[in-house]
Amino acid sequence: MSRSRRRRSKFRPSVPQDARRVDLHMHSNRSDGRLSCEEILVEASQKKLDIICISDHDLAPILEARVYSEYGYDVRVIHGAEMSVELAGEEQHFLAYFPSSMPDGFRQICREAAKSRARRYDSICNELSLAGVQRSDVQAQEGLRSLTRLHLARAIIDAGHARTISEVFDRWLRKKEGVEHFPDVVSMIQQIKDHGGISIWAHPSIKKASFHAAKLKKEGLDGLEVFRPYIKKGDRKRLRMLCSTYKMICSGGSDSHSDSMGLFSFPAQEIHDWPASFSFHNSQ
Ligand SMILES: [Zn+2]
Repeated sequence: MSRSRRRRSKFRPSVPQDARRVDLHMHSNRSDGRLSCEEILVEASQKKLDIICISDHDLAPILEARVYSEYGYDVRVIHGAEMSVELAGEEQHFLAYFPSSMPDGFRQICREAAKSRARRYDSICNELSLAGVQRSDVQAQEGLRSLTRLHLARAIIDAGHARTISEVFDRWLRKKEGVEHFPDVVSMIQQIKDHGGISIWAHPSIKKASFHAAKLKKEGLDGLEVFRPYIKKGDRKRLRMLCSTYKMICSGGSDSHSDSMGLFSFPAQEIHDWPASFSFHNSQ
């Protein structure tokens, strides 16, 4: 068996052959992914993903929420974003999903968050004061694309100060978490709810999820990201149990940043308990 086939089978252990394939967490080049939204649609069609969400960091979607048949396979795109928040003094990510188009009010929240990212990017650049490192561009300053520490790491490499992303993080960025720039988790959960969305805690550790689940559920958290690549079977089981204990929904996604999407998906049957307003039910 070739190496790529081995990898593939590792990522797709439990998808029944006739299941609709879902991936609700991936990134385009409007945040720190490599592919444009259009390239993602082509990839998703080729890999036969049935339902996807391009969940860029603090960024409203640009594709319409609808079924795309243009690339030879019906891919349903739902709207969402991955929002950075502060939880117990640390940065955590919460996914906001919307049953139809993301409302303007939430788009505005994303835009302000992305603008704040550009300011933070420039302030770290100024603080590090490394020669030749590219500052934020106009699109980022206007909140139309979002800059992450990965962008800064790439810019530092491009300017010739380091060779690898991990070297940049070790030397300069590891301590620049900047959680004070992010909204409090409770206010974000509330904002998502106020705009008709559902909130899912992205890739929580089992330890943190166990510690915070009861409180966050009370604050309106809708679910946890349970299905994801690399998660240990035991942890996935425990996250599922937490969802069941606190009557939360299970979600999942690859968190893909490149054309590796499609190697991981989970079956649509797993999201049967999502609110009926999400049109997954018609897709099965
Ligand atoms: Zn992500």
